[in-house]
Amino acid sequence: MSDTSDPILRIEGLKKYYDTSSGFVDSLLGRGQTVKAVDDVALKLHEGETLGVVGESGCGKTTLGRSILRLIEPTDGNVYYRGEELTDVSSTRLRRLKTDLQYIFQDPFASLDPRMTVGDIIGEPLDVHGIATGEERIDRIGELLETVGLSANYTRRYPHEFSGGQRQRIGIARALAVDPEIIVCDEPVSALDVSVQAQILNLLDDLQEEFGLSYIFIAHDLSVVEHISDRVAVMYLGEIAEVGPTEAVFSPPHHPYTEALLSAIPEPDPLWEGDRITLSGTVPSPIDPPSGCRFHTRCPRIIQPDEFDLTQTEWRSIVDLKLHASDAKSVKSLTTTEEGSVDIDLSAVSNDQLDRLVRAEFSLPGELSDPEAETILSAAIDRLHAGEIAAATDRLGAFVSPCERHSPEQYRSDDTHRIACLLYEQGFDSSGDSAGGTDAVVEN
Ligand code: SF4
Repeated sequence: MSDTSDPILRIEGLKKYYDTSSGFVDSLLGRGQTVKAVDDVALKLHEGETLGVVGESGCGKTTLGRSILRLIEPTDGNVYYRGEELTDVSSTRLRRLKTDLQYIFQDPFASLDPRMTVGDIIGEPLDVHGIATGEERIDRIGELLETVGLSANYTRRYPHEFSGGQRQRIGIARALAVDPEIIVCDEPVSALDVSVQAQILNLLDDLQEEFGLSYIFIAHDLSVVEHISDRVAVMYLGEIAEVGPTEAVFSPPHHPYTEALLSAIPEPDPLWEGDRITLSGTVPSPIDPPSGCRFHTRCPRIIQPDEFDLTQTEWRSIVDLKLHASDAKSVKSLTTTEEGSVDIDLSAVSNDQLDRLVRAEFSLPGELSDPEAETILSAAIDRLHAGEIAAATDRLGAFVSPCERHSPEQYRSDDTHRIACLLYEQGFDSSGDSAGGTDAVVEN
């Protein structure tokens, strides 16, 4: 699938921001905040292909899918379907175009109206778009049910009479009713049992082949996305971290976030001894996303500046300490982590004890391998012992990664594979190693 051919769908600079102010007065006083759910996303979908969109929950993938089809209004950006801009067409034109663009919802239990029969659920889009009436409508509904592997006799039944997998088939039949070209599948199998998931994925595969459909397939499960997608876009905090052909993105992974997501896939083999990558902290809030590369607060490969020569593990831990210190209200809260809190009475602990405590908390060694960095760290811990969080944060401010300062461009390996990571600033080779331009030390 070539990225250079004319795409059926082109997304440029798409943004969806939400204002959290609770009313007119809030916005007048500037008290509201902006949630950047989707921020400047550019993607292409080619005819007959499946583009997987993957990322942790809250990364903005569902908002992206809904903004593309204008189920919610985007804040900015353009979506072109066969060259026609969707974000700027009249509502009448959009309604006609929507027969070509369909959406399958995540939850097969919530997405079907329990008061409607299956026949009416599938027949509704036929009525709305004036596609079929009378006998033709009845025949079409029966045909659609059979296409998705259900009996044509189910038209008078209600959704509660079906299993999860069968309901998702009904949802697919409804999407197919208007003979679409593109379907956005939003986590279509995540609510289903594993065995049923495989059946639905196979059905989507078969339908794609039969009707030449193009899919945007949204999921948090990498193994599902890997199985079904021709190309994959990895999303993090509203942005595209990496996009490319499935094999180029996953084998081997390039972007550190993709690498971490892949390493988290459960291995069926109990004897598997591969390395799992643990990400520090939790996904930051899209209200105030981190500066530079949004992944820098968690990235295991965050780049250290030229003036230090620490191991990568030391550098990551130093940055973690700095980030916690800048958020901490007291030394006690600084030593409160997900694993539990350490109750510190500063008057009762010596400087050495606090030093050991802080280093243990952030997995720092007794002495850093870089003497200059060690001097700065010791001075910061001294300030902590004096109860001066702000002064400690100030000292730790000497540790600045290029990843905090610069937003990565989408660097290209070729026409089809783009990676938003400073490690690839000067290109990369197919083994997944960055090709220089940084002094990052990566420990395996
Ligand atoms: S730019 Fe830096 S923080 Fe972002 S993914 Fe690359 S190495 Fe990690």
